[in-house]
Amino acid sequence: MANYLKRPNGTEDVTPKNIHKWLTVEKVVRETAECFGFSEIRVPTFETTELFQRSVGETTDVVQKEMYSVTAKETVYTLRPEGTAGTIRAMLQNGMLAEALPQKVFYILSCFRHERPQAGRLREFHQFGIEMAGSASPYADADVIMVAKQILDTLGLKNISLHINSIGCPKCRSKYFDALRTYFSDYTETLCETCQGRMQRNPMRILDCKSPICKEIAANAPKITDFLCEECREHFATFRGALDAMGVEYIVDPTIVRGLDYYTKTVFEFITTDIGAQGTVCAGGRYDGLIEQLGGQAVPALGFGMGLERLILTMEHQGCEFLEPSRCELYIAPMDEAARPEAMRLAMTLRQSGSRVEYDLANRTFKAQMKYADKLGADYLLVLGSDELATKQAKLKNMKTGEQIPISLGDDFEDAYNDIVLADMFRDETLENLLDPRS
Ligand code: ATP
Ligand code: MG
Repeated sequence: MANYLKRPNGTEDVTPKNIHKWLTVEKVVRETAECFGFSEIRVPTFETTELFQRSVGETTDVVQKEMYSVTAKETVYTLRPEGTAGTIRAMLQNGMLAEALPQKVFYILSCFRHERPQAGRLREFHQFGIEMAGSASPYADADVIMVAKQILDTLGLKNISLHINSIGCPKCRSKYFDALRTYFSDYTETLCETCQGRMQRNPMRILDCKSPICKEIAANAPKITDFLCEECREHFATFRGALDAMGVEYIVDPTIVRGLDYYTKTVFEFITTDIGAQGTVCAGGRYDGLIEQLGGQAVPALGFGMGLERLILTMEHQGCEFLEPSRCELYIAPMDEAARPEAMRLAMTLRQSGSRVEYDLANRTFKAQMKYADKLGADYLLVLGSDELATKQAKLKNMKTGEQIPISLGDDFEDAYNDIVLADMFRDETLENLLDPRS
């Protein structure tokens, strides 16, 4: 196959066969976020490179090696590697932080990172994320966790553990960094090259290194929780108390430091072991310093990003249920040329009231049309021949039961059609199905 016919490495197509999986996840994340009082925000796919350098952080892998940047007329732009920077930029630019706080927004967007593609790690991937700006309360941290938890539960996911940690504030961190530097100084030669560079600028980043050697060295490093100042310690305790009160299980995990520089206090990840090494399906935390660092007021904020590909992979792996794919409801089969305009007219009547209706557009023979209707998985079939046109009476065939019900093609066609479909639905569905909020 010619190269230009191949999608770029690390990108994916979602074909109509799989779109229902995405629609399921998007519907659940949207509805859940709204239940918690978050409203949708949409931001540009690219921003100035400087925005990401200043927010995500110069010492991070994302900024050092993973960004897709282009120079256009002297300005350097970068395809967003995550959603927080652009969202906070939009909040500032649109004066949202001068409105009633906290501001609570969510987004579903694509992100771009030049990484080595593997299962659960793509170069273009998708995130659902939420951001809350203007609350310093540890209950906000707990509430944000509840959003993620309710989404995972609604999707029917299991075996996902919540890991939490506190990485303190700049105050407690400076003492901690000193302790880390002292500890790692015994290993300067053994650490990977990237981590040697991290020693001075941000030694905590070493704890997040994926290299097995660095991981082993990091295992015995001093723990941030022993260095928290009183305010951070209290914040962490109240946050955990709120989770306890909600009966949420979690693991306090001092190795969770997050890959981005802007985090303070609470950080967390939801991790599954079901999809291999890339098992973090949701990651986030508090970033109290970011807005001020970007030139805004000092507004505490927090949020998370959820990797939708990883979420869907896990759902597939666990056999979770997706919403049914949308399929043809009625297929109309004209038997001859004269029946075509009538087929189109009837199709239009029902389409205008929201039904998915198709008719022959390929000049197929009658037999081929029957085969095609079958392939579409149509619920109903309506055959139109000269008799039907003359009498304005036809038969609506239920493709599942084979039952044929007389139907008028006159002015009352739409009502007659809807009556039949509704009656079948009530016969077919158990009460349980009808009450399922996902149906
Ligand atoms: P990791 O190193 O575990 O891939 P990260 O620390 O780089 O994650 P974040 O920037 O916090 O990730 O992004 C939030 C979530 O987005 C991740 O937990 C993951 O679910 C998803 N994610 C991040 N990078 C990718 C990627 N390259 N491909 C697919 N999903 C990703
Ligand atoms: Mg990463």
